[in-house]
Amino acid sequence: MKSYSTARTILFWMLMVIVAVVLWKMASPSDQSARGREIIYSDLIAQVEKENVREVTLYISEYSYELQGEYREPTSKFFVKMPKEFAPDLLRALQQKGVPIRTMEVYQGTWTSILLNGLPIILLVAFWIFMVRQMRVGKGALWWARRLALPRLGLGYDLHRLEYGRKLIVGGIEMPFEKGPVSHSDGDVLTHAICDALLGAAGAGDIGTLFPDTDPKWKGASSLVFLKHVATVLAERKLHIGHIDAVVIAERPKLGPHFPAMREAMARALQIKPAQISLKAKTNEGVDAVGRGEAIAAHAIATLEA
Ligand code: MG
Repeated sequence: MKSYSTARTILFWMLMVIVAVVLWKMASPSDQSARGREIIYSDLIAQVEKENVREVTLYISEYSYELQGEYREPTSKFFVKMPKEFAPDLLRALQQKGVPIRTMEVYQGTWTSILLNGLPIILLVAFWIFMVRQMRVGKGALWWARRLALPRLGLGYDLHRLEYGRKLIVGGIEMPFEKGPVSHSDGDVLTHAICDALLGAAGAGDIGTLFPDTDPKWKGASSLVFLKHVATVLAERKLHIGHIDAVVIAERPKLGPHFPAMREAMARALQIKPAQISLKAKTNEGVDAVGRGEAIAAHAIATLEA
């Protein structure tokens, strides 16, 4: 899916470049090399006298005239630029020698020509500004710009002291163990770290301000309720969870066997797929409070997409 959208982006840009080049070619004046060599007015008069000019085309613009033509011997192309007032004498000389004359009007310097010549650049600049604006992750961004934009990243951390005779709940799952966290709520470190990662990515504060431990409402509350509330905060901001990755650090008990159930429970609370939550367990190698089994900690990161 990812490489598909990348390929689509590359194709899109290649197409834009081709369109810009084609537009540029269409709007540019005709190929300069086709005009031949530039000569001066007196040279042309001399060649006209020698009857060495096969045919000419006069390009009439607002401020100057340009004559393009071809010599008989040797066959070659030329052009000459001149002020308007030279034209009548020259045309008379050419007519006397029977040289066929074509006239073309060139709208140089008019708004039409400026617009035609500048259009590709104007389009490109406008498109570039449009793209840059759309790159922002937010409400206004289009679906394809959201895909191109970098996700928002959030970091969360939590630690709780462990004491005998308390329930141990991690990732919304209660597990048999002689100790449990000291906490106002259920003390679920993993859920708390994930809440903070999600709130951080959304720029929506943290768990302490959303669910203050001074509020009796949250006494003994299941942390899955916190997760559900965080999900509504994200929904209000039109943000979607990309991925959650977390590490739980505890000396005991073994958490790995409970991970499938934890991912299931937390995914349900957040209304995402369990595959969007990655969990890992670590011990603290017997050092510090966590290593001595006096505390349990968790780190989490989360990505959000608009
Ligand atoms: Mg906590």
